[in-house]
Amino acid sequence: ALTAGIVGLPNVGKSTLFNAITKAGAEMANYPFATIEPNVGVVEVPDARLARIAEIVKTNKIIPTTFEFTDIAGIVKGASKGEGLGNKFLENIRQVNAIVHVVRAFDDDNIVHVNGTVNPVDDIETINTELVLADLESIEKRYDRVSRSAKGGDKEAKAEYEVLEKIKPLLEAGKPARLAEFTEEQEKIVKGLFLLTTKPTLYVANVSEDDMSDPTASEYFQEIQEYANAEHAQVIGLSARAEEEIAEMAPEDQAEFLEMSGVSEPGLNVLIRAAYSLLDLRTFFTAGVKEVRAWTFKAGAKAPETAGVIHSDFQRGFIRAETMSYTDLDQYGSEKAVKEAGRLRSEGKEYVVEDGDIMEFLFNV
Ligand code: GDP
Repeated sequence: ALTAGIVGLPNVGKSTLFNAITKAGAEMANYPFATIEPNVGVVEVPDARLARIAEIVKTNKIIPTTFEFTDIAGIVKGASKGEGLGNKFLENIRQVNAIVHVVRAFDDDNIVHVNGTVNPVDDIETINTELVLADLESIEKRYDRVSRSAKGGDKEAKAEYEVLEKIKPLLEAGKPARLAEFTEEQEKIVKGLFLLTTKPTLYVANVSEDDMSDPTASEYFQEIQEYANAEHAQVIGLSARAEEEIAEMAPEDQAEFLEMSGVSEPGLNVLIRAAYSLLDLRTFFTAGVKEVRAWTFKAGAKAPETAGVIHSDFQRGFIRAETMSYTDLDQYGSEKAVKEAGRLRSEGKEYVVEDGDIMEFLFNV
């Protein structure tokens, strides 16, 4: 499964947020085949459509899809020089598919800030600099060799050289490689470079509990937003401490607490959805009297591939998929009415699945 790694300086609230994630964690009985490492938190992806589908097809059993966060511990400063546990830190980041970068955006004299004062942009840059330096090092190792082969007429080397030429000046200016624009062919080459700064990144402003009703009003949040805008990254605000408390509450207390705090849903839900879309993930459903279930697929996937999310046999023997869209089911109010309106589609191997499709797969065994 794809995972987002939680990174940040010490004392910014990473563990607090990760605790909130594990406490809110998925009902694992629903996912018997999931293997979970201790530093991985599995959460259910909140999706209001599930309850509506369950109401229509008359089932009580709802199984949301899940998303995994990985807690990346380790020493940050000097990581690119391989100091202390720094190498391990970078290796752990290399393993994840996206980065959730937690930034301290709260004042609290009792909690020491590693750099002395709360300064979100400095904090972000401390980490990003390590990532940039690590990428620069991996690129420089290749650069001379590739440029020589390119000049010697090697076509593949020339293609890679062009990619390196786009990335190198960015890194040298302290900027992430993801700011470069690549063709589809170049994207493949970039993938093979296993860089850190090409990973999709989301910033989480950990604001004080006083700011949780409107995190965007916090000055720290705004500083982070400005920084993120410059690198086309998204920012969300939440209070990790409040999220940890919310995750421990009974549902009715949770609702009361949220209302009192002036927010419509836990910040964790916002984070989960943001991380999900950061990785370009989409949801399709299966629905019957036994259960309604949500499944994750990568945007652009065709029907057989999404069938394979459920079981590899479904993919291997794929014949077709009886498909309706959630909006049609919601609007017509029953499967029968959708059928009568001619809105039930029989989709084949080339069908590109859309978010919200409700599918039944027909397959050969
Ligand atoms: P980590 O080193 O990044 O994992 O940081 P921790 O999660 O251990 O948090 C460091 C300290 O900051 C702990 O004492 C937390 O209770 C505190 N902390 C975390 N989030 C918040 C918050 O939203 N507000 C305040 N006031 N303190 C927080």
